[in-house]
Amino acid sequence: MRLELVTIGDELLLGFTIDTNAAFLARTLSEIGFEIAWRTTVGDEPDRIVQAVRNALDRTGAVITTGGLGPTADDRTRPAIAQLFGRELRMDDALMERIKARFQRYGYSSMPASNSVQAMVPEGATVLENPNGSAPGLWIEDERGRWVAMLPGVPHEMRSMATDVIVPMLTRRYSPNGAVVLSRTVRTTGIGESALAELLGEDGHDTVEGLPLAFLPGWEGVDLRLTAHDLPRQQAVAALDRAEAKLRSHADRYVYGLDGANLAAVVLDACRGRGWHIATAESCTGGMLGERITAIPGSSDVYVGGVVA
Ligand code: ATP
Repeated sequence: MRLELVTIGDELLLGFTIDTNAAFLARTLSEIGFEIAWRTTVGDEPDRIVQAVRNALDRTGAVITTGGLGPTADDRTRPAIAQLFGRELRMDDALMERIKARFQRYGYSSMPASNSVQAMVPEGATVLENPNGSAPGLWIEDERGRWVAMLPGVPHEMRSMATDVIVPMLTRRYSPNGAVVLSRTVRTTGIGESALAELLGEDGHDTVEGLPLAFLPGWEGVDLRLTAHDLPRQQAVAALDRAEAKLRSHADRYVYGLDGANLAAVVLDACRGRGWHIATAESCTGGMLGERITAIPGSSDVYVGGVVA
């Protein structure tokens, strides 16, 4: 099942806010088997919101938006999408009472008048409760079954709604036969990207055991990321195991771990296992190497200390 994400907000376009919502939604939904076909970002301008969501609906018919549901004048998502679906916005009295009650619970004598727009619901839309904020989410669907789920932009509100509301809704609706997208990162150090590619030979060309392979160089080393698409979980894990073994058969001596493995922690463990100790001598890194090591809990049994000169 393919779907699209549209993240809304001028601050995203201008680069003042990094679009973590799209990254979170993409990861969360692909893990349960949805394919994120497109991601679009638009500013708070109603015509552009309409255009972006219309294009997304034309392509996939399944769209999640974040942002622009707040009470201020720059929050335009609700009216823009109501207009796109040709629906009137109507006051939902029960929702209004819940929003007012929320303000009372937090000690306000009354709800600011501007928040009443958050109780305006497009005809036929479903309100998605937001336990962490005043802006509820909305689900709107047309007669052809094309839908838009609107979520708030505030990241912690969006994340809990995505996990608690959207994931169960989509799983019920599409019951995607258990297919998932799973990735595994094989972390290497001490070898450059091109030397590593040569070492892997034919197996370093785009795919390994049928799985796409990405080279991700960083200053600590080169990560090799394998991804299994659209397979039942068990098969995906087995395919990743095979591909990892193939990579290791060429380059195992450069591999220090998988996924979140921390190079400093790996070095500490290796030293601890041999009864070795570490001292550091640093110049222009000004103690950063010692900092990396001492950031690992329990490092003091291996790390003796260091000088910065
Ligand atoms: P609010 O009720 O707070 O107005 P909202 O749904 O209108 O909720 P926005 O006004 O779009 O949300 O954004 C609220 C906050 O969340 C802002 O600080 C914004 O920078 C941040 N934010 C919005 N979209 C994203 C995003 N895609 N990724 C990360 N942060 C975001």
